[in-house]
Amino acid sequence: MEGLRRMAEAVGNAWKRTAYPRKCLVCDRLLEAGEKEYTCVDCRDSLPTLEGSLCRCCGKPLGGREELCHDCGRTPRSFRRGRSLWLYEGEAKRLIQILKFKDGLYTAPYLAERLCQVLEELCALEHLPLPDVLCPVPLHPSRERARGYNQAGILTGRMARRLSIPEARLLVRVRKTKPMKDLGDLERLANIQGAFALKKNQDVRGRNVLVVDDIFTTGATLDACAKVLMEAGAREVWILVLALGKGI
Ligand SMILES: [Zn+2]
Ligand SMILES: [Zn+2]
Repeated sequence: MEGLRRMAEAVGNAWKRTAYPRKCLVCDRLLEAGEKEYTCVDCRDSLPTLEGSLCRCCGKPLGGREELCHDCGRTPRSFRRGRSLWLYEGEAKRLIQILKFKDGLYTAPYLAERLCQVLEELCALEHLPLPDVLCPVPLHPSRERARGYNQAGILTGRMARRLSIPEARLLVRVRKTKPMKDLGDLERLANIQGAFALKKNQDVRGRNVLVVDDIFTTGATLDACAKVLMEAGAREVWILVLALGKGI
């Protein structure tokens, strides 16, 4: 019941946002009539975007001229490419917390659109076709019930429509895990091992799968998802997240 109530509230919030004069998603300031963006100019400028050269594998900003970041250089990843919109701080952190914890489905159209743009930029830059299928990182069913929705699933649903790529819930969380934010690097790895499995009757053989999540910190969660997909025969796995967390 709690999940249903939260879902209804979130949908109500989303409706109110479209029915009334539009406000900036970050600071609530009224937007100019005809303004097409979802945020005001000030907030748009203050979002912590990633600049300079990025890790070829996970998309983290690099200090020097190397191709891979320290983590990707040290431990091979199961995913091939990755991108993030922002650093997990300031206004970006606020936006993501609204999406996750404050019934903030109304932020999803903006966030999904930005994810699509970053993915299209990556493909254009590297002359790559778009992925074959979009897949959200699954929540444990009990957590999804409590929240009323899976924020990553809401994003992939919107992205799928915008990009005309199928979306599929390819993975299930078979084991409940502790919140990653409370754990160190090694504990994160142990916590997530064996947490995901391919859903029954899903076939990923030969497909390029894009896995979407909200935050990338050590990458342990996304790597665990990518590993399951690669073992099931996926051709390649890419990852796309809203923000890079601390510990990068
Ligand atoms: Zn604003
Ligand atoms: Zn990296």
